[in-house]
Amino acid sequence: MAVKKNRKAKLGDGEIEQKGKMQQKEGQPTEGKGTEGKGTEGKGTEGKGPHSIRVPQLYKQASVILKKYENKEGSLKTLIYSGKYTNYGVMFGLLTKLVKNQEAVKSAIAASNLLVEQPSFDPHLAQVLATQALSKGSVVGKCKPIVVFKEYEEKIKATAANSFSAKAAVKDKDLLPRYVRINTLVSSVTDVHAQLKKDRFILQDYDPSVESYDDFLERVKNLVTPYYLVDYHIPELLVFPPGIPFWNSFLYKKNAIILQDKASCLPVFVSDIQETSNVLDACAAPGNKTSYIAAKMNNQGKVIAVENDLKRFETLVKMIRFRRASCVTSLNKDFFTLKPDNFPNVEHIFVDPSCSSSGTTVHNDEVSKERIAKLASLQTILLKRALSFPSVKEVIYSTCSVYKEENEQVIEDVLTQYHEEFELADLATCLKGWKHFGHDTYSFGNKCLRTDINIDKCTGFFVAKFVRKQAGKGEKRKSADEECHDLNPPKSKKEKKSKKSKKL
Ligand code: SAM
Repeated sequence: MAVKKNRKAKLGDGEIEQKGKMQQKEGQPTEGKGTEGKGTEGKGTEGKGPHSIRVPQLYKQASVILKKYENKEGSLKTLIYSGKYTNYGVMFGLLTKLVKNQEAVKSAIAASNLLVEQPSFDPHLAQVLATQALSKGSVVGKCKPIVVFKEYEEKIKATAANSFSAKAAVKDKDLLPRYVRINTLVSSVTDVHAQLKKDRFILQDYDPSVESYDDFLERVKNLVTPYYLVDYHIPELLVFPPGIPFWNSFLYKKNAIILQDKASCLPVFVSDIQETSNVLDACAAPGNKTSYIAAKMNNQGKVIAVENDLKRFETLVKMIRFRRASCVTSLNKDFFTLKPDNFPNVEHIFVDPSCSSSGTTVHNDEVSKERIAKLASLQTILLKRALSFPSVKEVIYSTCSVYKEENEQVIEDVLTQYHEEFELADLATCLKGWKHFGHDTYSFGNKCLRTDINIDKCTGFFVAKFVRKQAGKGEKRKSADEECHDLNPPKSKKEKKSKKSKKL
């Protein structure tokens, strides 16, 4: 009973701390009597003997997870995300390093005689502490196991020094936040927040007009459950800590939320589509961008979604139906085979072609030069085809590749042919505080967006936007910069009303 009381009090402490924006940082576990690992280092430990101080939660929970992992109770990722320690990034870093170096860690512990001379020492905790000591230099703490471990620490470090690799074995994408796009075709933003509150999530408030993008990224880095944020740039996008499993949630099952990375939302976000626009999505399946386009248009305009692969086309059709994107017509066709003159009203085209996907993985070097060249040539042809549609005013090109061959080089090749009719819009004006743009070895590089997986906390992506230079039929052409809509355009009365009336 006493333990329960203690726990409650400390969880409360954790909440206050979170609201004050500070969470645990890597390599700074906390300990203290009865803590849940969220107190201040050493807080409450002064004058107390090591027996009365608890093992920091990071180490304790890491030992529990390691044991389960060895018993094959789940993958490391699943065990971490279903565990009690909510700073998943820190836990992931520690345990992936441990698993990667486990042989070296175990041998060093054996050579130190720790488990022989201290038979009651938890062997999993020994591995966790040894990994921490080897990667961070030492283990800090006053609890009994750490005090004992420190007697063996130097020997363990000396034995494993040459065989231990402190390089993070974590895949960058595993540490990305969980992005959740509100599907405004199914539910209003207000209703989604209300349901999240019922599901015990807490919205962490901040003011994007006051806070810098860097401050926001710091928040994202330190985000732990049950907290979530509204994205700094995209108001209908929510940011949760990595790996939150939404698959069984009411909102997900109702298609009121879509698990879509921030990078994948950017092409639609920077486009100039309006409610009544006429849009073509040239490479549409599985339809994440298509349904976002339909949501932006509040199902008022017309979207043609093209997909050449039959299986993927079937998925696309299903997704569009589930997500209530009723303004979309799907075509199971190769975009090359469409005759541009048969689409005289299409004004906006999205080209999000197959690519190396090198932005979504750390194994960039696994893609051969030949494959990249082949992809680039297909991407170039697709993009040129899009620019040849008679009424097209805007073409958004995007890839989840980090290679310039699939990005800036494609743009350069296409511009060589189309520079008299089209220019690139300066996308820097669309995202406040953004720092990552195309390669500066290209004259237009700074007009294209790139995302950096480690800094922007979303998958590696590239976006370029072509806008037609000539004035359209009878109307004055906007400049490329004007084409990029305001960051927070005022909502029309009609828009507000129709969004409010949507119920889950
Ligand atoms: N835009 C999609 C989304 O956000 O969900 C992802 C598109 S995925 C990167 C590329 C898609 O383009 C694949 O489904 C692929 O089959 C399709 N595709 C590739 N070449 C195509 C072509 N010539 N015509 C139509 N679809 C094509």
